[in-house]
Amino acid sequence: MEVYLTFDDGPVPSITPFVLDELKKRGMLATFFMVGDNIQKYPDLARRVIEEGHQIGNHTYNHLNGAKADHNRYIGNLEKCQQTIKNILGLDTHLFRPPYGRLKTSQTKVISKDFKIIMWDVLSGDFVNGISPSQCLQKTIKYTQNGSIILFHDQQKTEAIIKETLPQYLDYLKKNNLQTALL
Ligand SMILES: [Zn+2]
Repeated sequence: MEVYLTFDDGPVPSITPFVLDELKKRGMLATFFMVGDNIQKYPDLARRVIEEGHQIGNHTYNHLNGAKADHNRYIGNLEKCQQTIKNILGLDTHLFRPPYGRLKTSQTKVISKDFKIIMWDVLSGDFVNGISPSQCLQKTIKYTQNGSIILFHDQQKTEAIIKETLPQYLDYLKKNNLQTALL
């Protein structure tokens, strides 16, 4: 049995190293959907993610909302992120996750020619205002099943909740023989 852990919006120095450490302790792997602007700001941290065996995906350069952004601007922003990944990490990714899960049909058509568009089925809710770590943990465990794609965020807003929830969630996976796999 396996699950796919995903972390959106990093790399961010106050939380991404914590996530990496927790994964490493348990020999687990994840996919990080990075914002190009953060890769540009924190190249060493982005490199560390790759060096530790994880996978990365494109999450646009400025975290644009596809439902609101003009078509050409949106595609250009995705390409800018892809170019940043290439320049800084020396690789190409074929994975894309739209910020907010929002895409217009016209965008989907163009993007899916070059990318696998990855959504999720388990939303940890780590970004929800006022959610407690135990609520976040219980909710995430409840919906996790074989083959699940689980969405967490390594960003400033979710930092406190991730620090409490993630270690317990990873222990839960381990205890239940749920292996982590790459997309
Ligand atoms: Zn995002």
